[in-house]
Amino acid sequence: MKPMKIAIIGAGPRGLMMLHRLLKTLKQPAEIDLYDSFQIGGHVWRTDQPLYYLMNSTAQLVTLFNDYQEKSTTGPTFYEWSQSEAAQTFIKEQHYDQNFSKVCHSLQPNDFGPRALFGVYTQWFYQEIRENLSGNLSINFINQTVNSAAVLSKNRYEIQTDTTTITYDEVICSTGTSNNRLTNDEKSLANYADQYNLTYITPSYVNEADLTNITSDQTVLLRGLGLNFFDYLATFTTGRGGKYSYDKNQHLTYQPSGKEPKLVAGSRRGVPYYPKTMNQLPLGQHLPLYFLNWENIKTNLVDQKLSFAKFWDLFQAEIENRYYQLLIKAKYPNLNAESFTKAFQTSKDRKATIAKCNFNEEDLLDWNLLANPVAGTSITNIAAYQKILLQWVKLITDDAKLGSLHAPITGALTIFVDMRTTIQKLVAEHYFTNDDYVNKFIKEFTSFTGFLTSGPPVIRYEQLQALLEAKILTIVPPQLQVIGANHHFIARSHFYPGEIFTCDALIEARLPKTNLSLTNDKLLNSLQKDNIFSSYKIPLTDGQQFNTQAVNVAEPNFNPLDSQGELHHHLFVWGLPITGVEWMTTALPHALSDDRNFMITNQIAKQIVNH
Ligand SMILES: Cc1cc2nc3c(=O)[nH]c(=O)nc-3n(C[C@H](O)[C@H](O)[C@H](O)COP(=O)(O)OP(=O)(O)OC[C@H]3O[C@@H](n4cnc5c(N)ncnc54)[C@H](O)[C@@H]3O)c2cc1C
Repeated sequence: MKPMKIAIIGAGPRGLMMLHRLLKTLKQPAEIDLYDSFQIGGHVWRTDQPLYYLMNSTAQLVTLFNDYQEKSTTGPTFYEWSQSEAAQTFIKEQHYDQNFSKVCHSLQPNDFGPRALFGVYTQWFYQEIRENLSGNLSINFINQTVNSAAVLSKNRYEIQTDTTTITYDEVICSTGTSNNRLTNDEKSLANYADQYNLTYITPSYVNEADLTNITSDQTVLLRGLGLNFFDYLATFTTGRGGKYSYDKNQHLTYQPSGKEPKLVAGSRRGVPYYPKTMNQLPLGQHLPLYFLNWENIKTNLVDQKLSFAKFWDLFQAEIENRYYQLLIKAKYPNLNAESFTKAFQTSKDRKATIAKCNFNEEDLLDWNLLANPVAGTSITNIAAYQKILLQWVKLITDDAKLGSLHAPITGALTIFVDMRTTIQKLVAEHYFTNDDYVNKFIKEFTSFTGFLTSGPPVIRYEQLQALLEAKILTIVPPQLQVIGANHHFIARSHFYPGEIFTCDALIEARLPKTNLSLTNDKLLNSLQKDNIFSSYKIPLTDGQQFNTQAVNVAEPNFNPLDSQGELHHHLFVWGLPITGVEWMTTALPHALSDDRNFMITNQIAKQIVNH
């Protein structure tokens, strides 16, 4: 029997999970080629990046071993592996920097480990796969970029790199984040930078940004206050020899190296993403969902749709319930958290149930304040804004340091992780109307919840506090505006137009977003040109179409649909390129949580085996 030829494009976590699943599922002989221009593990998890670039996932929760609907793990999680003899042997045998070995020894289950170490885990995972390969299967890593995948016939694809051309029966694209061409705004800023010898850094991976021209006498503007911003803070401080240390009161302070530039940062909201508190639940244990669960969802369906308003109500109730449970445990010993939840669950008027508890006014959960922590404060100038922001940073850092089972605010937000699978299913199975999905879910919910839940580990917030106190960093109040003028980049807040920052460098502190119209990925472009890929457009009741800029795929098989709606049954796309069809495509799989990533690999592998 001729072996089946399969190509997996992208050797990041998804490509590797797919490979693993295929090898477990295939019954026929097969040859699988894995393509990536970066190393095994992919671009994000390069093992040569500095150790101060941290993951924003908890070490004990993330895994590459598929345990979908299993009752126990099927291989070591990242943390379990880091503690094993196998990790030490692998680090030694593969001649990695011995610092990895030390990091493994000091890593705790709930730490946010270095990204580079997760890269080592991915490479060990690949070695494991190779060593356990059965006789009629072979795998081969082709360390190149795929430029095109041409359709030769219904089940024949020709894949080209700069030096190879190979045909395949099945092709799986798990290409992750791709760089984009510059938008018009970015182009004009880049031109301005060229003209006046300034530095302009487009959305990119921080560890790869060229910052060599940025010197200590310069002022740098960071546009964006999410994870990428925190990576830049680490680069300009720890990366330039500065040191963070705790004083005798366990307060983190910063000792500059003298090499850091003056940092100015801002965004529309003017407030950095919330920090993540430390997980305190054991592996496999989840918080119960009292509100956003399938029983409640099913009760509230009208014509098989869940209104966004009802979804939002259930979502808010879930977070509020967790918040008050934690608040009661922390501050109200005369109340009982379990009784509160019982009353809250059956209450027809949740506000009244909360009022009965007589919480202090300042302890009530205020959604407006959560969304905009500086709202309503009187800010007279930028210096006053620093004080107000610092106050909030301290408050939220103190909360986050309590851990997920004790911190009322950031602990309550961790329940979002447990809601993830439910929300993913609501999106993938079209439980929202198109209008609700576009206007409410995509345009409002995703950015709001990103702000609340996809921020950095709490240590980064302690560092932020230290930098604000040392006046190395200034945060521009809300509604940041930037222009090129007077041979510099000029930044100001819409609300304080009189106070400006004159900057020598502008850094777009964010990652490129999935965008089929702008992508630089040769493969995605060639597949679009050949009308194999088309973008997922959503018709709205006002006659408009919303272009998600994602690759359009048909669920549940993840085959792309061309612009005429024709399916390509032997081609599969998943992960970041289909952000919009699926929700939350960036997160690594969590062990023992029926993770959707594993469900999808199972689905794709099943299709391939049955072809
Ligand atoms: C800086 C950064 C930090 C992150 N930290 C976390 C974290 O801590 N926790 C978490 O859950 N998520 C994190 N993420 C999200 C991240 O996207 C996922 O964790 C995960 O890497 C996604 O896996 P993937 O395989 O889908 O994509 P990627 O990891 O992006 O892998 C895709 C691979 O495809 C390759 N590729 C693309 N096009 C081609 C082509 N034409 N030919 C050949 N190869 C190609 C790329 O080189 C890349 O290596 C982070 C992302 C970034 C960018």
